[in-house]
Amino acid sequence: MSDGRAAKRVAKFIKPLRVKPGSTVDLTEDFDPRYKADLKKRDGVELLSTGVSLLADLQARLAAQDTYGVLFCLQAIDAGGKDGTIRHVMSGVNPQGVRVSGFKVPSAEELDHDYLWRYAQRLPSRGEIGIFNRSHYEEVLVVRVHPENLDRQKLPEEAKGPDVWQRRYREINDWERYLTDNGIKVVKVFLNLSKEEQRLRFLKRIDRPEKNWKFSAADVREREHWDDYQEAFSEMLSATSTPWAPWYVVPADRKWFARICAAAVLAHTLIGIDPQYPSLDGQAREELLAARGGLEAEAP
Ligand code: AMP
Ligand code: MG
Repeated sequence: MSDGRAAKRVAKFIKPLRVKPGSTVDLTEDFDPRYKADLKKRDGVELLSTGVSLLADLQARLAAQDTYGVLFCLQAIDAGGKDGTIRHVMSGVNPQGVRVSGFKVPSAEELDHDYLWRYAQRLPSRGEIGIFNRSHYEEVLVVRVHPENLDRQKLPEEAKGPDVWQRRYREINDWERYLTDNGIKVVKVFLNLSKEEQRLRFLKRIDRPEKNWKFSAADVREREHWDDYQEAFSEMLSATSTPWAPWYVVPADRKWFARICAAAVLAHTLIGIDPQYPSLDGQAREELLAARGGLEAEAP
């Protein structure tokens, strides 16, 4: 397939997943976790491998060009499939060009800083793809659903008012705009899992010894806050899908389909950057040719 055709196909594929900037999202109404675009799992396997090789080529060019960085943020409820998505989508790219950062309960040192500090520390450099397994969006998700997290953040009184979430949305949008304007593109994927599929995945984690480590009793307690999370997700998607960094809601009940979508969203951003291998100017080319001549003359 030509590059142009691949680009169009990717753009068309991800369009229904994009949250239109300025729109109001009601997650439970607007996005179906089981949507699969009339694809069959069998075709999906081939499509993912096409996507993975496309990403490998684009990432090599991104690294060589060394001008843009890409920040790929993955958010989801527990068992949404973040880890597996990263494993599969990035399976073809050069590990030297990728950095994965996971974010858990903040440390004492992290709590002693402004809330975006720890995320800023893990940003990708130019030429790099940085993956956030959970991201700065936890600051308007788990912190909102469990306000005691906000109490631990040692904020001054004036930063804790009832407008705190609106303010954080604005600050996050501003931060992402700043990054984008300076060559660090921000890509955001929300893996949209249904409550029933989460139940089934938790059961697997309990029943299969090799999956036990992924499960804790706290996950079931968190599940009791399902509706609060859906609301926090909906508000986050409505307030922070921007022209410079739109959200993509990826149907997550079928792992194979979620992976294709995530790969396509990332590929779409890289295609937009269209990174090029640097070409040499006249003098550098002459030096190269001179070096070649010397090496040839050394031939035994
Ligand atoms: P896991 O991804 O399963 O290893 O779990 C990480 C845990 O850290 C999740 O329960 C998150 O909700 C929690 N977490 C991540 N970021 C924050 C944050 N900023 N404040 C409080 N908890 C967080
Ligand atoms: Mg977990």
